[in-house]
Amino acid sequence: MSATTASTGTIQALRLHAKKDIRVDQIASLPCNSDEVRVQIAYCGVCGSDLHEYLSDPIFTPAPGTKNKWTGVELPIPLGHEMSGTVTEVGNDVSGVQVGQKVAINPALDDRHYGAELCSSCKTGKINICKRFATYGLSAPSGGFSTEVVVKRYNILPLPDNVPLKVGALAEPLAVAWHAIRLSGFQKGQNALVLGAGPIGLAILLLLRVWEAGKVIVTEVTDARKAQAAKFGADLVVNPLQKILDGAEGDELDPVINAVRSSTEDGVDVAFDATGLQSTLDTALKATRPGGTIFNVAIHEKPLQLNLNDIACFEKKLLGGICYTYEDFEAVIKAMSSGKIPFEQMITAVVPLSNAVDGGFEELVRNKAKHVKILIQPDPAS
Ligand SMILES: [Zn+2]
Repeated sequence: MSATTASTGTIQALRLHAKKDIRVDQIASLPCNSDEVRVQIAYCGVCGSDLHEYLSDPIFTPAPGTKNKWTGVELPIPLGHEMSGTVTEVGNDVSGVQVGQKVAINPALDDRHYGAELCSSCKTGKINICKRFATYGLSAPSGGFSTEVVVKRYNILPLPDNVPLKVGALAEPLAVAWHAIRLSGFQKGQNALVLGAGPIGLAILLLLRVWEAGKVIVTEVTDARKAQAAKFGADLVVNPLQKILDGAEGDELDPVINAVRSSTEDGVDVAFDATGLQSTLDTALKATRPGGTIFNVAIHEKPLQLNLNDIACFEKKLLGGICYTYEDFEAVIKAMSSGKIPFEQMITAVVPLSNAVDGGFEELVRNKAKHVKILIQPDPAS
């Protein structure tokens, strides 16, 4: 049966109308179809990709005058994809989810959402690399900077009682980090280098503790983020721009390579590049031990140069990954429930939806390095 505790009137939603034009609008709420779930949003984190779509030409949202190929949505589009909330309605065919349940949401859409035949990726559960991939909050009808969303049952992840909704909203960025660690082949006790202490770099740092890493070295140029990396448990935080002189020869040494050499036998087992610059790729290649792995988790604005001898001659592996699958969300929620890692440290501000533009988006433009994660709270009274 369909438990209809939610009204089907209007909702408030922060929508992208055009570059530099986002507004909180009053819009019609969506129907909750038989395979869908309605969720009252508690918190939704502002992501670097939200900021990109706000400030620059679109990567994930439809360009002005165009529609998303798979979902058919066009501007204005509701933003927000790092969501947690409480279920208020379930469709007739939905099982395993109840009204009143606290949930996190995996915002990814794949072949199943369109009733399409499953592609080779979807058949093996790798829905993150589905060729028809889309995302609630960037390229689909619902988004999390809203009082409510309607999503498919596949997108719902129930939260254990001991995981607060605030922490549940971190599941999405943490799932990105978990996916990167899992795909890199990282093993317990190994040493890692994390290049860049932005939200994803810091999420990798926190989760490497769950993986029982040996030494974790973090590189970062801003003082605010260096302090966060130290607080989040990095063994060593290095500023790559702080050149050091070799006493004997007077030569300049690369401070990151110097730190890696003094902390590991032969280089780190895995270097995670969460920055995506030529300099971070070069450092990652140099800092990794023979046979080790360089894992790219950054989105690049332009192609980089690579000498493949660096890969071939020492059998290093260069891998990349994007987003997550269900098992990444499940692993992250299990880690949250264990209570061992203070994930709530990632939350640097909570802002009501009415102030999302200035207190969320513009605040990140002004003070990016100060923040790890700003959460938007659509209904502070709830
Ligand atoms: Zn697919």
